[in-house]
Amino acid sequence: EDGEERFEFQAEVGRVMDIIINSLYSNRDVFLRELISNSADACDKKRFLAVTDSGADEGGSDDDPEYRIRVRADKDAKTLIIEDSGVGMTKDELKNNLGRIAESGTANFMEAIKNGETDVSLIGQFGVGFYSAFLVADKVTVYTRSCQTPDAPQYKWESQQSNSYSIKEDQSDQLEGSGTRIVLHLKEDSEEYLDDFKIKELSTRYSEFISFPIEVWAEKTSYDQVPDTSVEVAEGEEPKMKTVTRTAMQWERMNKMKPIWMRSPREVKEEEYSEFYKSTFKAWDEVAAHTHFSLEGQVEFRALLFVPSVLPYELSRNMFDETSRNMRLYVKRVFINDKFEELLPRWLMFLRGVVDSEDLPLNVGREILQRSKMLSVISKRLVRKSLDMFKKLADDKEKYKVFWENFGKYLKVGVVEDEDIKSELAPLCRFFSKNHGEDFVSFDEYIADMKEDQKAIYYVTADSRASAQMSPALEKATSLGYDVLFMTEPLDELTVQSIGEYGGKPLTDLGKENVEFSGDEEEKAKKEEQSTDTQDFRQWLQELLGEKRVQKVEVSNRLVGSAATLVQSSYGMSPTMARYMKAQAV
Ligand code: ADP
Ligand code: MG
Repeated sequence: EDGEERFEFQAEVGRVMDIIINSLYSNRDVFLRELISNSADACDKKRFLAVTDSGADEGGSDDDPEYRIRVRADKDAKTLIIEDSGVGMTKDELKNNLGRIAESGTANFMEAIKNGETDVSLIGQFGVGFYSAFLVADKVTVYTRSCQTPDAPQYKWESQQSNSYSIKEDQSDQLEGSGTRIVLHLKEDSEEYLDDFKIKELSTRYSEFISFPIEVWAEKTSYDQVPDTSVEVAEGEEPKMKTVTRTAMQWERMNKMKPIWMRSPREVKEEEYSEFYKSTFKAWDEVAAHTHFSLEGQVEFRALLFVPSVLPYELSRNMFDETSRNMRLYVKRVFINDKFEELLPRWLMFLRGVVDSEDLPLNVGREILQRSKMLSVISKRLVRKSLDMFKKLADDKEKYKVFWENFGKYLKVGVVEDEDIKSELAPLCRFFSKNHGEDFVSFDEYIADMKEDQKAIYYVTADSRASAQMSPALEKATSLGYDVLFMTEPLDELTVQSIGEYGGKPLTDLGKENVEFSGDEEEKAKKEEQSTDTQDFRQWLQELLGEKRVQKVEVSNRLVGSAATLVQSSYGMSPTMARYMKAQAV
Protein backbone atom coordinates (compact mmCIF):
# COMPACT_ATOMS: atom_id res chain seq x y z
CA GLU A 1 0.00 0.00 0.00
CA ASP A 2 0.96 3.60 -0.51
CA GLY A 3 3.29 5.02 2.09
CA GLU A 4 2.60 2.19 4.45
CA GLU A 5 5.39 1.30 6.84
CA ARG A 6 5.66 -1.85 8.90
CA PHE A 7 7.09 -2.01 12.41
CA GLU A 8 7.82 -4.83 14.80
CA PHE A 9 6.21 -4.79 18.20
CA GLN A 10 8.62 -4.71 21.09
CA ALA A 11 9.02 -8.36 22.16
CA GLU A 12 7.20 -7.84 25.46
CA VAL A 13 4.07 -6.70 23.67
CA GLY A 14 3.56 -10.13 22.15
CA ARG A 15 4.01 -11.82 25.50
CA VAL A 16 1.64 -9.42 27.23
CA MET A 17 -0.95 -9.88 24.48
CA ASP A 18 -0.76 -13.65 24.83
CA ILE A 19 -1.19 -13.49 28.57
CA ILE A 20 -4.10 -11.10 28.31
CA ILE A 21 -5.86 -13.21 25.73
CA ASN A 22 -5.34 -16.45 27.62
CA SER A 23 -6.09 -15.30 31.10
CA LEU A 24 -8.97 -12.93 30.43
CA TYR A 25 -10.95 -14.90 27.93
CA SER A 26 -13.89 -15.36 30.26
CA ASN A 27 -13.69 -11.73 31.32
CA ARG A 28 -13.59 -10.13 27.90
CA ASP A 29 -15.90 -7.24 28.77
CA VAL A 30 -12.96 -5.41 30.29
CA PHE A 31 -11.67 -4.40 26.86
CA LEU A 32 -14.35 -1.72 26.71
CA ARG A 33 -13.45 -0.39 30.12
CA GLU A 34 -9.80 -0.07 29.06
CA LEU A 35 -10.58 1.66 25.77
CA ILE A 36 -13.06 4.07 27.35
CA SER A 37 -10.55 4.82 30.07
CA ASN A 38 -7.88 5.59 27.45
CA SER A 39 -10.30 7.88 25.66
CA ALA A 40 -11.10 9.68 28.89
CA ASP A 41 -7.36 10.10 29.56
CA ALA A 42 -6.97 11.52 26.06
CA CYS A 43 -9.79 14.02 26.71
CA ASP A 44 -8.22 14.96 30.05
CA LYS A 45 -4.92 15.65 28.31
CA LYS A 46 -6.48 17.74 25.59
CA ARG A 47 -8.50 19.79 28.06
CA PHE A 48 -5.42 20.35 30.17
CA LEU A 49 -3.48 21.57 27.12
CA ALA A 50 -6.35 23.80 26.10
CA VAL A 51 -6.57 25.57 29.41
CA THR A 52 -2.85 25.84 29.96
CA ASP A 53 -1.98 27.00 26.44
CA SER A 54 -4.57 29.67 26.11
CA GLY A 55 -4.09 30.86 29.63
CA ALA A 56 -7.82 30.67 30.00
CA ASP A 57 -8.79 29.51 33.43
CA GLU A 58 -12.11 28.17 32.35
CA GLY A 59 -12.14 24.41 32.03
CA GLY A 60 -15.02 24.36 29.59
CA SER A 61 -18.47 23.41 30.67
CA ASP A 62 -19.35 19.84 31.39
CA ASP A 63 -21.32 19.67 28.20
CA ASP A 64 -18.50 20.99 26.07
CA PRO A 65 -18.93 19.08 22.80
CA GLU A 66 -15.21 19.41 22.29
CA TYR A 67 -14.70 16.50 24.61
CA ARG A 68 -16.66 13.39 23.96
CA ILE A 69 -16.44 9.65 23.69
CA ARG A 70 -18.66 7.68 21.36
CA VAL A 71 -19.22 3.97 20.95
CA ARG A 72 -20.89 2.54 17.88
CA ALA A 73 -21.39 -0.90 16.41
CA ASP A 74 -21.42 -1.47 12.69
CA LYS A 75 -23.39 -4.67 12.31
CA ASP A 76 -22.67 -5.10 8.61
CA ALA A 77 -18.95 -4.65 8.91
CA LYS A 78 -18.92 -6.52 12.25
CA THR A 79 -16.90 -3.79 13.85
CA LEU A 80 -17.15 -1.93 17.12
CA ILE A 81 -15.91 1.64 17.00
CA ILE A 82 -14.75 3.72 19.95
CA GLU A 83 -14.07 7.32 19.06
CA ASP A 84 -12.90 10.22 21.17
CA SER A 85 -12.12 13.86 20.57
CA GLY A 86 -9.05 13.78 22.80
CA VAL A 87 -5.40 14.65 22.20
CA GLY A 88 -4.84 12.06 19.50
CA MET A 89 -1.37 10.81 18.65
CA THR A 90 1.44 11.82 16.34
CA LYS A 91 3.23 9.18 14.33
CA ASP A 92 5.97 8.92 16.94
CA GLU A 93 3.45 8.63 19.71
CA LEU A 94 1.71 5.84 17.84
CA LYS A 95 4.99 3.95 17.70
CA ASN A 96 5.87 4.61 21.31
CA ASN A 97 2.46 4.09 22.84
CA LEU A 98 0.95 1.32 20.78
CA GLY A 99 4.09 -0.52 19.79
CA ARG A 100 5.81 -0.86 23.10
CA ILE A 101 5.10 -0.93 26.79
CA ALA A 102 6.44 1.45 29.37
CA GLU A 103 9.38 -0.29 30.99
CA SER A 104 7.97 -0.72 34.46
CA GLY A 105 4.65 -1.87 33.00
CA THR A 106 5.77 -5.16 31.51
CA ALA A 107 7.97 -6.19 34.38
CA ASN A 108 5.30 -5.43 36.97
CA PHE A 109 2.60 -7.10 34.94
CA MET A 110 4.61 -10.27 34.35
CA GLU A 111 5.62 -10.48 37.96
CA ALA A 112 2.11 -9.94 39.23
CA ILE A 113 0.82 -12.65 36.93
CA LYS A 114 3.55 -15.05 37.93
CA ASN A 115 2.93 -14.53 41.63
CA GLY A 116 -0.80 -14.71 41.12
CA GLU A 117 -0.99 -11.82 43.53
CA THR A 118 -3.31 -9.60 41.62
CA ASP A 119 -6.55 -9.62 39.76
CA VAL A 120 -5.38 -9.78 36.17
CA SER A 121 -8.50 -8.10 34.92
CA LEU A 122 -7.05 -4.89 36.33
CA ILE A 123 -4.58 -4.70 33.50
CA GLY A 124 -5.14 -0.96 33.41
CA GLN A 125 -2.84 -0.43 36.34
CA PHE A 126 0.09 -1.87 34.45
CA GLY A 127 -0.16 0.39 31.42
CA VAL A 128 -1.09 -2.44 29.07
CA GLY A 129 -4.83 -1.83 28.80
CA PHE A 130 -4.85 -1.05 25.11
CA TYR A 131 -3.85 -4.59 24.20
CA SER A 132 -7.07 -5.93 25.70
CA ALA A 133 -8.62 -4.85 22.39
CA PHE A 134 -7.28 -8.15 21.06
CA LEU A 135 -9.52 -10.04 23.44
CA VAL A 136 -12.42 -9.41 21.12
CA ALA A 137 -10.81 -8.34 17.85
CA ASP A 138 -8.50 -10.15 15.48
CA LYS A 139 -7.73 -6.89 13.73
CA VAL A 140 -7.51 -3.46 15.33
CA THR A 141 -7.38 -0.26 13.32
CA VAL A 142 -6.60 3.04 14.97
CA TYR A 143 -7.21 6.36 13.21
CA THR A 144 -5.76 9.30 15.02
CA ARG A 145 -4.89 12.96 14.69
CA SER A 146 -2.86 14.88 17.24
CA CYS A 147 -4.04 18.22 18.56
CA GLN A 148 -0.50 19.22 19.36
CA THR A 149 0.63 20.25 15.89
CA PRO A 150 -1.52 22.42 13.65
CA ASP A 151 -2.64 20.64 10.48
CA ALA A 152 -1.34 17.34 11.76
CA PRO A 153 -2.16 14.59 9.29
CA GLN A 154 -4.37 11.71 10.27
CA TYR A 155 -2.62 8.38 10.68
CA LYS A 156 -3.90 4.88 10.42
CA TRP A 157 -2.35 2.21 12.62
CA GLU A 158 -3.29 -1.38 12.12
CA SER A 159 -2.39 -4.73 13.57
CA GLN A 160 -3.67 -8.26 13.30
CA GLN A 161 -2.43 -9.52 16.61
CA SER A 162 0.83 -10.62 15.03
CA ASN A 163 4.30 -9.42 15.85
CA SER A 164 4.02 -6.36 13.68
CA TYR A 165 1.82 -3.39 12.90
CA SER A 166 1.59 -0.86 10.10
CA ILE A 167 1.30 2.91 10.03
CA LYS A 168 0.39 5.11 7.11
CA GLU A 169 -0.96 8.56 6.50
CA ASP A 170 -4.63 8.31 5.91
CA GLN A 171 -6.97 10.37 3.80
CA SER A 172 -10.06 8.22 4.12
CA ASP A 173 -12.48 8.46 6.96
CA GLN A 174 -11.33 11.81 8.44
CA LEU A 175 -11.83 12.59 12.10
CA GLU A 176 -13.53 15.90 12.67
CA GLY A 177 -10.80 17.45 14.76
CA SER A 178 -8.16 15.85 16.88
CA GLY A 179 -8.81 12.53 18.50
CA THR A 180 -8.69 8.81 18.07
CA ARG A 181 -11.02 6.28 16.51
CA ILE A 182 -10.44 2.67 17.36
CA VAL A 183 -12.05 0.13 15.07
CA LEU A 184 -12.28 -3.38 16.43
CA HIS A 185 -12.83 -6.05 13.80
CA LEU A 186 -14.63 -8.47 16.04
CA LYS A 187 -13.74 -12.12 16.26
CA GLU A 188 -16.53 -14.52 15.48
CA ASP A 189 -16.95 -15.45 19.12
CA SER A 190 -17.28 -11.79 20.09
CA GLU A 191 -20.16 -10.70 17.94
CA GLU A 192 -22.29 -10.17 21.01
CA TYR A 193 -20.55 -6.78 21.25
CA LEU A 194 -22.52 -5.64 18.20
CA ASP A 195 -25.66 -5.63 20.27
CA ASP A 196 -26.77 -2.13 21.36
CA PHE A 197 -28.13 -3.47 24.56
CA LYS A 198 -24.87 -5.10 25.53
CA ILE A 199 -22.80 -2.04 24.61
CA LYS A 200 -25.14 0.24 26.53
CA GLU A 201 -24.96 -1.91 29.60
CA LEU A 202 -21.17 -2.04 29.55
CA SER A 203 -20.72 1.63 28.73
CA THR A 204 -22.96 2.60 31.59
CA ARG A 205 -21.03 0.39 33.95
CA TYR A 206 -17.64 1.68 32.87
CA SER A 207 -18.46 5.34 32.46
CA GLU A 208 -20.07 6.24 35.73
CA PHE A 209 -17.11 8.19 37.01
CA ILE A 210 -15.87 9.60 33.75
CA SER A 211 -16.31 13.32 33.43
CA PHE A 212 -16.85 13.45 29.67
CA PRO A 213 -20.02 12.51 27.88
CA ILE A 214 -20.08 8.91 26.76
CA GLU A 215 -22.58 8.23 24.04
CA VAL A 216 -23.70 5.02 22.44
CA TRP A 217 -25.28 4.79 19.00
CA ALA A 218 -28.46 2.95 19.75
CA GLU A 219 -32.01 2.50 18.69
CA LYS A 220 -34.33 4.79 20.52
CA THR A 221 -38.07 4.56 20.48
CA SER A 222 -40.07 7.77 20.69
CA TYR A 223 -43.80 8.17 21.09
CA ASP A 224 -45.23 11.18 19.26
CA GLN A 225 -48.74 12.59 19.15
CA VAL A 226 -49.82 13.42 15.61
CA PRO A 227 -53.21 14.33 14.04
CA ASP A 228 -55.12 11.22 13.03
CA THR A 229 -56.18 11.92 9.45
CA SER A 230 -58.27 8.78 9.19
CA VAL A 231 -60.85 10.29 11.50
CA GLU A 232 -62.96 13.04 10.01
CA VAL A 233 -63.62 16.07 12.11
CA ALA A 234 -66.13 18.85 11.60
CA GLU A 235 -64.86 22.24 10.66
CA GLY A 236 -63.58 24.25 13.56
CA GLU A 237 -63.04 21.23 15.74
CA GLU A 238 -59.67 20.08 17.00
CA PRO A 239 -58.30 17.17 14.98
CA LYS A 240 -58.18 13.77 16.70
CA MET A 241 -54.67 12.80 17.76
CA LYS A 242 -52.95 9.44 17.67
CA THR A 243 -49.69 8.08 18.99
CA VAL A 244 -47.02 7.07 16.55
CA THR A 245 -44.15 4.96 17.64
CA ARG A 246 -40.95 5.77 15.88
CA THR A 247 -37.68 4.05 16.25
CA ALA A 248 -34.52 5.71 15.11
CA MET A 249 -30.85 5.36 15.73
CA GLN A 250 -29.35 8.14 17.77
CA TRP A 251 -26.59 9.00 20.21
CA GLU A 252 -27.62 8.22 23.72
CA ARG A 253 -25.76 9.62 26.71
CA MET A 254 -24.72 6.95 29.22
CA ASN A 255 -23.27 8.91 32.14
CA LYS A 256 -24.26 11.74 34.42
CA MET A 257 -20.74 13.10 34.83
CA LYS A 258 -21.11 15.07 38.00
CA PRO A 259 -17.88 14.30 39.83
CA ILE A 260 -18.48 12.47 43.06
CA TRP A 261 -16.33 14.90 45.07
CA MET A 262 -18.52 17.81 43.98
CA ARG A 263 -21.53 16.21 45.59
CA SER A 264 -22.47 16.63 49.20
CA PRO A 265 -20.96 13.90 51.37
CA ARG A 266 -24.41 13.38 52.86
CA GLU A 267 -25.79 12.35 49.49
CA VAL A 268 -23.07 9.94 48.44
CA LYS A 269 -23.65 6.32 49.32
CA GLU A 270 -20.91 4.04 50.63
CA GLU A 271 -21.10 1.86 47.52
CA GLU A 272 -20.59 4.90 45.37
CA TYR A 273 -17.37 5.77 47.17
CA SER A 274 -16.26 2.21 46.84
CA GLU A 275 -17.07 2.05 43.13
CA PHE A 276 -15.40 5.37 42.51
CA TYR A 277 -12.30 4.22 44.35
CA LYS A 278 -12.06 1.01 42.37
CA SER A 279 -12.68 2.51 39.00
CA THR A 280 -10.50 5.59 39.45
CA PHE A 281 -7.50 3.88 40.97
CA LYS A 282 -7.89 0.58 39.15
CA ALA A 283 -8.01 -1.06 42.53
CA TRP A 284 -9.67 -4.29 43.49
CA ASP A 285 -9.63 -3.97 47.25
CA GLU A 286 -12.34 -2.48 49.41
CA VAL A 287 -11.72 0.93 50.93
CA ALA A 288 -10.59 0.73 54.57
CA ALA A 289 -11.57 4.32 55.33
CA HIS A 290 -12.36 7.51 53.50
CA THR A 291 -12.85 11.16 54.17
CA HIS A 292 -14.67 13.64 51.97
CA PHE A 293 -14.51 17.32 52.79
CA SER A 294 -14.15 20.83 51.50
CA LEU A 295 -12.41 23.94 52.64
CA GLU A 296 -13.88 27.32 51.98
CA GLY A 297 -12.59 30.82 52.55
CA GLN A 298 -9.25 32.10 51.40
CA VAL A 299 -8.28 28.80 49.91
CA GLU A 300 -11.04 26.75 48.42
CA PHE A 301 -10.85 23.12 47.55
CA ARG A 302 -12.60 19.80 47.82
CA ALA A 303 -10.96 16.53 48.55
CA LEU A 304 -11.72 12.88 48.84
CA LEU A 305 -9.12 10.65 50.48
CA PHE A 306 -9.07 6.89 50.73
CA VAL A 307 -7.12 4.43 52.83
CA PRO A 308 -6.72 1.23 50.81
CA SER A 309 -7.19 -2.07 52.58
CA VAL A 310 -4.12 -3.58 50.94
CA LEU A 311 -0.76 -2.07 50.19
CA PRO A 312 -0.96 -0.72 46.62
CA TYR A 313 0.96 -2.99 44.29
CA GLU A 314 3.71 -0.58 43.27
CA LEU A 315 4.38 0.31 46.92
CA SER A 316 4.79 -3.32 47.83
CA ARG A 317 7.80 -3.29 45.52
CA ASN A 318 9.15 0.02 46.67
CA MET A 319 7.91 1.92 49.70
CA PHE A 320 8.19 5.29 47.97
CA ASP A 321 7.72 4.21 44.39
CA GLU A 322 7.88 7.21 42.11
CA THR A 323 5.58 5.73 39.53
CA SER A 324 2.80 5.64 42.07
CA ARG A 325 -0.15 7.65 40.79
CA ASN A 326 -2.41 7.87 43.72
CA MET A 327 -3.29 11.52 44.21
CA ARG A 328 -5.20 13.18 41.44
CA LEU A 329 -5.00 16.95 41.32
CA TYR A 330 -7.75 18.88 39.59
CA VAL A 331 -8.17 22.60 39.23
CA LYS A 332 -11.81 23.55 38.74
CA ARG A 333 -12.65 20.03 37.54
CA VAL A 334 -9.80 20.01 35.02
CA PHE A 335 -7.50 17.09 35.63
CA ILE A 336 -3.97 18.39 36.08
CA ASN A 337 -1.97 15.32 36.99
CA ASP A 338 -1.64 12.39 39.30
CA LYS A 339 2.01 12.65 40.18
CA PHE A 340 1.86 15.73 42.28
CA GLU A 341 4.10 14.79 45.15
CA GLU A 342 3.81 18.17 46.81
CA LEU A 343 0.19 17.61 47.71
CA LEU A 344 1.11 15.29 50.55
CA PRO A 345 4.22 14.57 52.57
CA ARG A 346 5.78 11.34 51.41
CA TRP A 347 4.76 9.40 54.48
CA LEU A 348 1.17 9.70 53.24
CA MET A 349 2.04 8.28 49.87
CA PHE A 350 -0.11 5.22 50.51
CA LEU A 351 -3.33 7.25 50.41
CA ARG A 352 -5.36 7.52 47.26
CA GLY A 353 -7.52 10.47 46.51
CA VAL A 354 -8.66 13.48 44.60
CA VAL A 355 -8.05 17.14 45.29
CA ASP A 356 -9.93 19.74 43.31
CA SER A 357 -8.82 23.30 43.87
CA GLU A 358 -10.82 26.37 42.97
CA ASP A 359 -7.93 28.77 43.00
CA LEU A 360 -4.66 27.14 42.04
CA PRO A 361 -3.54 28.62 38.75
CA LEU A 362 -3.95 26.30 35.79
CA ASN A 363 -1.42 27.73 33.50
CA VAL A 364 1.73 27.83 35.54
CA GLY A 365 4.48 25.30 35.79
CA ARG A 366 4.90 23.07 38.75
CA GLU A 367 7.89 25.07 40.00
CA ILE A 368 5.55 27.90 40.80
CA LEU A 369 2.90 25.59 42.15
CA GLN A 370 5.44 24.06 44.47
CA ARG A 371 6.16 27.37 46.09
CA SER A 372 2.55 28.39 46.19
CA LYS A 373 1.34 29.19 49.64
CA MET A 374 -2.02 27.85 48.69
CA LEU A 375 -0.54 24.46 48.10
CA SER A 376 0.92 24.37 51.56
CA VAL A 377 -2.46 25.29 53.05
CA ILE A 378 -4.04 22.46 51.09
CA SER A 379 -1.33 20.05 52.11
CA LYS A 380 -1.64 20.90 55.81
CA ARG A 381 -5.36 20.39 55.64
CA LEU A 382 -5.00 17.04 53.93
CA VAL A 383 -2.61 15.89 56.63
CA ARG A 384 -4.99 17.08 59.33
CA LYS A 385 -7.92 15.21 57.80
CA SER A 386 -5.83 12.11 57.28
CA LEU A 387 -4.88 12.05 60.94
CA ASP A 388 -8.54 12.37 61.91
CA MET A 389 -9.35 9.52 59.59
CA PHE A 390 -6.66 7.29 61.16
CA LYS A 391 -7.85 8.16 64.65
CA LYS A 392 -11.34 7.14 63.75
CA LEU A 393 -10.06 3.94 62.20
CA ALA A 394 -8.25 3.15 65.45
CA ASP A 395 -11.61 2.81 67.23
CA ASP A 396 -12.05 -0.47 65.45
CA LYS A 397 -9.23 -2.63 66.78
CA GLU A 398 -9.47 -5.36 64.16
CA LYS A 399 -9.52 -2.93 61.29
CA TYR A 400 -6.74 -0.89 62.76
CA LYS A 401 -4.57 -3.95 63.11
CA VAL A 402 -4.79 -4.55 59.38
CA PHE A 403 -4.18 -0.88 58.72
CA TRP A 404 -1.11 -0.91 60.94
CA GLU A 405 0.27 -4.04 59.31
CA ASN A 406 -0.12 -2.43 55.90
CA PHE A 407 0.86 1.14 56.61
CA GLY A 408 2.47 1.32 60.05
CA LYS A 409 5.86 1.81 58.50
CA TYR A 410 4.60 4.93 56.72
CA LEU A 411 3.36 6.42 59.97
CA LYS A 412 6.73 5.67 61.54
CA VAL A 413 8.41 7.57 58.73
CA GLY A 414 5.97 10.36 59.54
CA VAL A 415 7.16 10.38 63.13
CA VAL A 416 10.78 10.54 62.07
CA GLU A 417 10.35 13.08 59.27
CA ASP A 418 7.55 15.34 60.38
CA GLU A 419 8.41 17.10 63.61
CA ASP A 420 5.15 19.06 63.67
CA ILE A 421 2.83 16.12 63.84
CA LYS A 422 5.04 13.66 65.70
CA SER A 423 3.03 14.07 68.86
CA GLU A 424 -0.16 13.24 67.00
CA LEU A 425 1.28 10.21 65.34
CA ALA A 426 2.71 8.73 68.55
CA PRO A 427 -0.72 7.70 69.90
CA LEU A 428 -1.38 5.96 66.59
CA CYS A 429 1.75 3.81 66.81
CA ARG A 430 1.44 0.13 67.69
CA PHE A 431 3.99 -2.44 68.79
CA PHE A 432 4.15 -6.05 69.77
CA SER A 433 5.06 -6.63 73.38
CA LYS A 434 6.06 -9.29 75.85
CA ASN A 435 2.59 -9.54 77.39
CA HIS A 436 0.31 -9.03 74.41
CA GLY A 437 1.07 -12.00 72.17
CA GLU A 438 -0.45 -11.54 68.74
CA ASP A 439 -2.05 -8.21 69.58
CA PHE A 440 -0.55 -4.83 69.07
CA VAL A 441 -0.30 -2.46 71.99
CA SER A 442 -0.38 1.34 71.96
CA PHE A 443 1.56 3.58 74.31
CA ASP A 444 -1.69 4.50 76.03
CA GLU A 445 -2.57 0.87 76.66
CA TYR A 446 0.95 0.21 77.87
CA ILE A 447 0.80 3.07 80.33
CA ALA A 448 -2.62 2.01 81.59
CA ASP A 449 -1.09 -1.38 82.50
CA MET A 450 2.05 0.00 84.14
CA LYS A 451 3.00 -1.13 87.64
CA GLU A 452 2.91 1.41 90.41
CA ASP A 453 6.66 1.60 90.81
CA GLN A 454 7.32 1.61 87.07
CA LYS A 455 8.99 4.78 85.86
CA ALA A 456 9.47 4.21 82.17
CA ILE A 457 8.14 2.59 79.03
CA TYR A 458 10.60 -0.22 78.33
CA TYR A 459 11.51 -1.75 75.03
CA VAL A 460 14.05 -4.11 73.53
CA THR A 461 15.33 -4.17 69.99
CA ALA A 462 15.73 -7.40 68.10
CA ASP A 463 15.53 -8.94 64.65
CA SER A 464 12.30 -10.72 65.31
CA ARG A 465 9.62 -11.19 67.90
CA ALA A 466 11.03 -14.62 68.72
CA SER A 467 14.46 -13.30 69.49
CA ALA A 468 13.00 -10.37 71.43
CA GLN A 469 11.08 -12.85 73.60
CA MET A 470 14.32 -14.62 74.46
CA SER A 471 16.42 -11.54 75.02
CA PRO A 472 18.13 -11.60 78.45
CA ALA A 473 17.71 -7.82 78.45
CA LEU A 474 14.09 -8.17 79.47
CA GLU A 475 14.61 -10.44 82.45
CA LYS A 476 14.71 -7.78 85.09
CA ALA A 477 11.69 -5.89 83.79
CA THR A 478 9.77 -9.14 83.46
CA SER A 479 10.66 -10.17 86.99
CA LEU A 480 9.20 -6.88 88.19
CA GLY A 481 6.04 -7.59 86.22
CA TYR A 482 6.59 -4.86 83.64
CA ASP A 483 5.52 -5.29 80.04
CA VAL A 484 8.23 -4.71 77.41
CA LEU A 485 7.66 -3.41 73.88
CA PHE A 486 9.38 -5.18 71.01
CA MET A 487 11.15 -3.08 68.42
CA THR A 488 11.64 -5.60 65.66
CA GLU A 489 11.68 -3.40 62.59
CA PRO A 490 14.62 -1.17 61.79
CA LEU A 491 12.38 1.87 61.68
CA ASP A 492 11.01 1.18 65.15
CA GLU A 493 14.14 2.30 66.84
CA LEU A 494 14.36 5.59 64.99
CA THR A 495 10.71 6.08 65.76
CA VAL A 496 10.99 5.64 69.52
CA GLN A 497 14.10 7.77 69.57
CA SER A 498 12.18 10.56 67.83
CA ILE A 499 9.26 10.22 70.19
CA GLY A 500 11.58 10.27 73.21
CA GLU A 501 8.89 10.14 75.84
CA TYR A 502 5.18 9.52 75.99
CA GLY A 503 2.77 10.75 78.62
CA GLY A 504 5.73 11.92 80.67
CA LYS A 505 7.33 8.46 80.64
CA PRO A 506 10.71 8.13 78.98
CA LEU A 507 10.99 5.44 76.32
CA THR A 508 13.84 3.32 77.60
CA ASP A 509 15.94 0.78 75.73
CA LEU A 510 16.68 -2.21 77.95
CA GLY A 511 19.64 -3.05 75.77
CA LYS A 512 21.54 -0.01 76.98
CA GLU A 513 23.75 0.37 80.03
CA ASN A 514 22.64 2.45 83.00
CA VAL A 515 19.01 1.47 82.86
CA GLU A 516 17.69 2.09 86.33
CA PHE A 517 14.93 0.25 88.10
CA SER A 518 13.30 1.07 91.38
CA GLY A 519 15.01 -0.99 94.07
CA ASP A 520 18.42 -0.37 92.55
CA GLU A 521 19.38 1.76 95.54
CA GLU A 522 18.93 -1.09 98.00
CA GLU A 523 20.98 -3.42 95.87
CA LYS A 524 23.78 -0.94 95.40
CA ALA A 525 25.97 -2.18 98.26
CA LYS A 526 25.59 -5.77 97.19
CA LYS A 527 26.52 -4.86 93.64
CA GLU A 528 29.67 -3.08 94.76
CA GLU A 529 30.71 -6.02 96.85
CA GLN A 530 30.22 -8.39 93.93
CA SER A 531 32.20 -6.06 91.73
CA THR A 532 35.18 -6.29 94.02
CA ASP A 533 34.83 -10.04 94.38
CA THR A 534 34.79 -10.61 90.65
CA GLN A 535 37.49 -8.16 89.71
CA ASP A 536 39.97 -10.78 88.48
CA PHE A 537 37.37 -12.76 86.62
CA ARG A 538 36.03 -9.68 84.86
CA GLN A 539 39.49 -8.61 83.83
CA TRP A 540 40.23 -12.08 82.45
CA LEU A 541 36.97 -12.07 80.47
CA GLN A 542 37.63 -8.64 79.07
CA GLU A 543 41.08 -9.66 77.87
CA LEU A 544 39.72 -12.86 76.44
CA LEU A 545 37.07 -11.09 74.37
CA GLY A 546 39.33 -8.24 73.43
CA GLU A 547 38.74 -4.54 73.04
CA LYS A 548 37.10 -4.87 69.67
CA ARG A 549 34.29 -6.93 71.09
CA VAL A 550 33.59 -5.39 74.47
CA GLN A 551 34.39 -2.07 76.07
CA LYS A 552 33.97 -3.30 79.62
CA VAL A 553 32.63 -6.19 81.66
CA GLU A 554 30.49 -5.22 84.62
CA VAL A 555 28.43 -6.71 87.39
CA SER A 556 24.76 -6.05 86.92
CA ASN A 557 21.57 -6.66 88.88
CA ARG A 558 19.43 -6.72 85.76
CA LEU A 559 19.73 -10.42 85.01
CA VAL A 560 17.51 -13.00 86.62
CA GLY A 561 17.99 -16.32 84.82
CA SER A 562 20.86 -15.65 82.44
CA ALA A 563 24.55 -15.49 83.29
CA ALA A 564 25.44 -12.59 81.01
CA THR A 565 24.02 -10.16 78.50
CA LEU A 566 25.38 -7.71 76.00
CA VAL A 567 24.38 -4.09 76.37
CA GLN A 568 25.30 -0.92 74.50
CA SER A 569 26.56 2.31 75.93
CA SER A 570 23.80 4.87 76.42
CA TYR A 571 24.68 6.66 73.22
CA GLY A 572 25.62 3.63 71.17
CA MET A 573 23.77 2.16 68.26
CA SER A 574 21.92 -1.09 68.79
CA PRO A 575 23.02 -4.05 66.70
CA THR A 576 19.67 -3.98 64.85
CA MET A 577 20.18 -0.34 64.04
CA ALA A 578 23.79 -0.88 63.04
CA ARG A 579 22.72 -3.59 60.62
CA TYR A 580 19.99 -1.34 59.25
CA MET A 581 22.37 1.54 58.66
CA LYS A 582 24.81 -0.78 56.98
CA ALA A 583 22.11 -2.11 54.66
CA GLN A 584 21.05 1.44 53.76
CA ALA A 585 24.57 2.62 53.01
CA VAL A 586 25.30 3.04 49.35
P1 ADP B 1 -2.07 3.33 29.86
O1 ADP B 1 -3.42 3.86 29.52
O2 ADP B 1 -2.01 2.80 31.23
O3 ADP B 1 -0.95 4.27 29.56
P2 ADP B 1 -2.64 1.62 27.64
O4 ADP B 1 -2.06 0.33 27.13
O5 ADP B 1 -4.09 1.59 27.95
O6 ADP B 1 -1.81 2.05 28.90
O7 ADP B 1 -2.38 2.74 26.59
C1 ADP B 1 -1.07 3.01 26.15
C2 ADP B 1 -0.88 4.40 25.65
O8 ADP B 1 -1.47 4.57 24.37
C3 ADP B 1 -1.53 5.48 26.49
O9 ADP B 1 -0.70 5.87 27.57
C4 ADP B 1 -1.68 6.61 25.48
O10 ADP B 1 -0.47 7.33 25.37
C5 ADP B 1 -1.92 5.88 24.19
N1 ADP B 1 -3.36 5.82 23.90
C6 ADP B 1 -4.17 4.76 24.01
N2 ADP B 1 -5.43 5.07 23.65
C7 ADP B 1 -5.42 6.38 23.29
C8 ADP B 1 -6.42 7.32 22.82
N3 ADP B 1 -7.70 6.96 22.68
N4 ADP B 1 -6.02 8.57 22.55
C9 ADP B 1 -4.73 8.95 22.70
N5 ADP B 1 -3.76 8.14 23.14
C10 ADP B 1 -4.09 6.85 23.42
MG1 MG C 1 -5.08 2.65 29.60
